[in-house]
Amino acid sequence: RIGTAALAVQVVGSNWPKPHYTLLVTGLCRFQILQLLKEKPYPVAEVEQLDRLEQFTNQHKSEEELGELSEQFYKYAVQLVEMLDMSVPAVAKLRRLLDNLPREALPDILTSIIRTSNQEKLQILDAVSLEERFKMTIPLLVRQIEGLKLLQKTRKPKQDDDKRVVAIRPNRRINHIPSTTEDEEEEDDHDDVVMLEKKIRTSSMSEQALKVCLKEIKRLKKMPQSMPEYALTRNYLELMVELPWNKSTKDRLEIRAARILLDNDHYAMEKLKKRVLEYLAVRQLKNNLKGPILCFVGPPGVGKTSVGRSIAKTLGREFHRIALGGVCDQSDIRGHRRTYVGSMPGRIINGLKTVGVNNPVFLLDEVDKLGKSLQGDPAAALLEVLDPEQNHSFTDHYLNVAFDLSQVLFIATANTTATIPPALLDRMEIIQVPGYTQEEKIEIAHRHLIPKQLEQHGLTPQQIQIPQVTTLDIITRYTREAGVRSLDRKLGAICRAVAVKVAEGQHKETKTDRAEVSEGEDCKEHVTEDAKPESISDTADLALPPEMPILIDFHALKDILGPPMYEMEVSERLSQPGVAIGLAWTPLGGEIMFVEASRMDGEGQLTLTGQLGDVMKESAHLAISWLRSNAKRYQLTNASGSFDLLDNTDIHLHFPAGAVTKDGPSAGVTIVTCLASLFSGRLVCSDVAMTGEITLRGLVLPVGGIKDKVLAAHRAGLKRIIIPRRNEKDLEEIAVNVRQDLTFVMASCLDEVLNAAFDGGFAVKPRLERLNSKL
Ligand code: ADP
Repeated sequence: RIGTAALAVQVVGSNWPKPHYTLLVTGLCRFQILQLLKEKPYPVAEVEQLDRLEQFTNQHKSEEELGELSEQFYKYAVQLVEMLDMSVPAVAKLRRLLDNLPREALPDILTSIIRTSNQEKLQILDAVSLEERFKMTIPLLVRQIEGLKLLQKTRKPKQDDDKRVVAIRPNRRINHIPSTTEDEEEEDDHDDVVMLEKKIRTSSMSEQALKVCLKEIKRLKKMPQSMPEYALTRNYLELMVELPWNKSTKDRLEIRAARILLDNDHYAMEKLKKRVLEYLAVRQLKNNLKGPILCFVGPPGVGKTSVGRSIAKTLGREFHRIALGGVCDQSDIRGHRRTYVGSMPGRIINGLKTVGVNNPVFLLDEVDKLGKSLQGDPAAALLEVLDPEQNHSFTDHYLNVAFDLSQVLFIATANTTATIPPALLDRMEIIQVPGYTQEEKIEIAHRHLIPKQLEQHGLTPQQIQIPQVTTLDIITRYTREAGVRSLDRKLGAICRAVAVKVAEGQHKETKTDRAEVSEGEDCKEHVTEDAKPESISDTADLALPPEMPILIDFHALKDILGPPMYEMEVSERLSQPGVAIGLAWTPLGGEIMFVEASRMDGEGQLTLTGQLGDVMKESAHLAISWLRSNAKRYQLTNASGSFDLLDNTDIHLHFPAGAVTKDGPSAGVTIVTCLASLFSGRLVCSDVAMTGEITLRGLVLPVGGIKDKVLAAHRAGLKRIIIPRRNEKDLEEIAVNVRQDLTFVMASCLDEVLNAAFDGGFAVKPRLERLNSKL
């Protein structure tokens, strides 16, 4: 019940960003509350002054009595103040005060300056007798002196900083007396800041970073908490402490084990696995990372991400995936400068903070989908990250100090290389991951996907059985993709449906058990009454196969997944002249593409539909020109029998799936074949697909993506594939079993293409030409 009477000198503060006021008061004396008169709106009490009463009269006496104590106290106080940095004005002033002030005022003043808990301060306030006050304060002084000595011993070189810190804080505190809770809060905060400083000093950050951090922490100490910058600086320092400057996991690389692990996790993809093993082997021998960045390019769902994860596992490293799809701001990679409100470090630094080590495997997913915007080009920022010559001093804008990324293993994935900026592409080694064949998909499903799905749904192989023919059905009739992602989803749907049946079965078992137990005369009536509405569903339930394992056959498949989504439509669509099948490459894998043509009376115009790019339109014009110039040779005529194919005739060429933009030169041969069929009235063989670029003189030029295209044709059940002769070498990459199913026709000119596309050939008629010349 003892307090300090004080005179309010000044009140400053504001309500924003949060209410924070500073009260400047001058303490007068201690008082004691005798009686509380009223509490609201503010307390009013009758008080009694406790000290500084007979200041002048008792001075001599008290000094005599307390001479020894006060002398001792004075010595300690001087010792403490002299340990501080005298060049700071506040310290020099304090030193002068020690001599000028009456001795009995010293305990109060020094208690408020040195580091004491709130509890201790209140104890000193309660100590009305001067003797008691001296006795209580001396141990606190000694404690502070010892603490300071220790600090100076451990931090010899930074002595000055510490002194200043100790000296400045008290100064701030002399003037303000906050309420108790706030004081404690601040106390806590102060402790936190000291802890933070300790962490910074003990962390193994680089010299440069340490310097920046110490500077920031010094600023932090001087800053009132209510300043927005306080939180900003603090977050920054906390991030700096958390970053793995020197923390790394130990690589445990053993090529033989890596090979086994990769084989166990992934079926097929031999080329990719081989290249990854080579890469790892070089790493093992050379022990540094200055190699190219691997970039897996292929359609979705072919296991690019999961191979990345396996690499991390074989190396015993942490794995972190950074999705780059749609990133169009370079500060996403490199962070915002700290001057922005809400600034953050970029994804690289964030990733490092998340994994907590400086040598993780970072998977840069979808590098081909980086965007560009006014906020700069993220691809350019990635250049610095990926360049082994530069990334040992990668500077994030938020950190503003260099961080060494040279230990990080970067792997990139993309669907296509076409949209990767050339400079970025230059830093990476592209490894193509093609789509899977049906056989491979079946194996992948049975070795990996089905066991994984069963586990996820809490099922066992004793409860569900999916035979290989069913898997093949799912692959051919319910999915059309290069990878296995939608196959995986369909298998998930089957497992869900089976899980319901299994759970229902269990429920029914327990129900029948209970019914047997509670069977009795008296409940019979109830049963007959209640059973009626349920009976239908009951019998229906009983009709379902209750015995395990539940076999998924074609009918079950239809029940669960609905009617088949894709049917083999090839032969149907090739039942009239003017249709041919081309092969297209898309980032999602190869696809077969029907090209349709029709002719009508008109003025010789060519109409193209199906969202075609410029290159494709040019191919169409080329094809028409070549056919027109060779019309006589092939006996191609328009509707009225003229060799001028466009005379009074309009031609319409359509590439179905009009919602998808198509471009590229590889449809040239298909357009020629389609038009040849239209003008000759003959059907193109229904099992032939083709790809190749054409020239005006009828040559067939090589095209890309042969492997994906061939796989697509194989998926669609086609048998004969016409490819440019110069693409023959690409066939080696295709699995033997696929090659065995198909016949390849190598064509170097359009004559060969047409001969192969039509049953019985599309032969040139030399005799007719001679006849024509006579005319
Ligand atoms: P991507 O990154 O190429 O789009 P993911 O790596 O996400 O594809 O693969 C999709 C799923 O397919 C994963 O669950 C993966 O385990 C599985 N998967 C793909 N290829 C294989 C394979 N060859 N062997 C086993 N599982 C595979």
